[in-house]
Amino acid sequence: MKKLIDIPFELNVVSIARTVHVEPDSPDGQTLRELIEQARQVARPKALYKEAFLDGKGADTVTVEGVTFTSRMLRANLDRVERVFPFVATCGHEMDTVTLPTGDLLAEFWWDAIKAVLLGAAIRHFSERLKQRFALGKTSSMSPGSGDVDVWPIEQQRELFALLGDVKGQIGVELTESFLMKPNKTVSGICFATEVDFHSCQVCRRKDCPSRSAAFDPALWDLHQRG
Ligand code: SF4
Repeated sequence: MKKLIDIPFELNVVSIARTVHVEPDSPDGQTLRELIEQARQVARPKALYKEAFLDGKGADTVTVEGVTFTSRMLRANLDRVERVFPFVATCGHEMDTVTLPTGDLLAEFWWDAIKAVLLGAAIRHFSERLKQRFALGKTSSMSPGSGDVDVWPIEQQRELFALLGDVKGQIGVELTESFLMKPNKTVSGICFATEVDFHSCQVCRRKDCPSRSAAFDPALWDLHQRG
């Protein structure tokens, strides 16, 4: 298991202000600057991953180091793959130690936007490190709970965390009883080498999602349904 803890990040005031629709030179902009400065003091984005090998494939299952995942789409994506990289990347639990003004919903929203930038830095760093260390070309990933609800059920976070080991002890990320992760700006999944682009958004029918990174693909969706 490999832990990445010294992850560089940049918190650009203008860019974050644009994301949350705040004028940088307004009074709100000043408050946002102060929050960003606080974040710079405490933030420690992190990632955890391991190299793991498949030891079985079923009709709609894959088994990785004795842990079985059930997802027709994951099975299809790993059809020609024998090695995967389960991972967790996070903005860092330190961000949840900061006390925000009670009931200030705007401050909470801005803080979440800052956390999202930190998570982005963690994902980029993890992805670059993986490609350097293992000489990978193109990669894709899947996350439990991403895409439509039955593409890869979120309950399989339990198996993913079991495969990774002591995630909380290593990088401070907790899995809740409802299989969400704390801190909230955290992603988990399985990364794999591929020659074909895959995004969970392609098999997600959610409309008007602000985070959509690829258009819904009816043909791929149909493949998922038929297996
Ligand atoms: S469209 Fe939105 S909800 Fe659906 S997988 Fe993409 S980011 Fe997630």
